[in-house]
Parts: sequence; C-alpha cells; structure tokens
Amino acid sequence: MQTTFKIIGFTDKVNECDCCGKTDLKGTYAIDVDGQEMYYGSVCAANTIGMDTKSIKKVVSQIKTFENIDLAMSQAKAEATQVKIYIQAMKKGYSKNEFFIKYGVIDHVSKWETYYNFAHLTHAIEIEKIN
Ligand SMILES: [Zn+2]
Repeated sequence: MQTTFKIIGFTDKVNECDCCGKTDLKGTYAIDVDGQEMYYGSVCAANTIGMDTKSIKKVVSQIKTFENIDLAMSQAKAEATQVKIYIQAMKKGYSKNEFFIKYGVIDHVSKWETYYNFAHLTHAIEIEKIN
C-alpha cells in the first residue's frame, strides 16, 4: 500500500518531532500522513516525504500565500476588491476552479471574462474583414 503525504504547513507551536522524538525544535512541518496529522522536524519531513527541505519550504510558502489570499477574500466586501484579489490569486498560481468553488463565481469576474472573450472574438472578426 502506498502512503500519501500532504504538506499542511509549518508551525512554531509544536516543537517536538513525531518521527524521531527530537525536542526544542524551532518549529515543525505539519504533514498529513495517510489522513493522520503528524509534526516532523525539517530533516525527518524531508526524509519521509522524499523532498529536499528547500522544496518543502517552497510548498509551505505557497500554502501561506494561498492562506493570505483566502483571508483577504474573506475580508473583501467590495466586488472591485474581490476582482483585484482574484487577479492576484491567478498570478500566484491559485487554481481558478478552486477559487470559484470556494467563493462562488464573482459576477464581475465572469462578466469581465465574457467581455474579454467577446472582445477577442470581435477582434478576430475584424482581422478577417481587413484581410
Ligand atoms: Zn525527527
């Protein structure tokens, strides 16, 4: 049976490694191991998942970015602000589907995309006319 790992994030609240029992760590990586939440120091995390610590840090930083986007979205009242966050989120690699599932399709974004597609189509027709 294959074990599945999911990096949840980094926490400075847990300072003991669930893997080797080392204590006084600056923090640990929260990792979902087959559905169970474990806290591993960076070396054990790297060995367990089979990723180098640099890559794990990158994943954690990406998670943090997404969390910040989620937080900003939860506080954004104006649609214009939501659109700005949406654009940022797409630039940072947030998946469009995930975003829409979480927040619902922002009316303005979908309109904007419709306009864009429509403009694109209109433009294509214009070029055809010129030629
Ligand atoms: Zn350890």
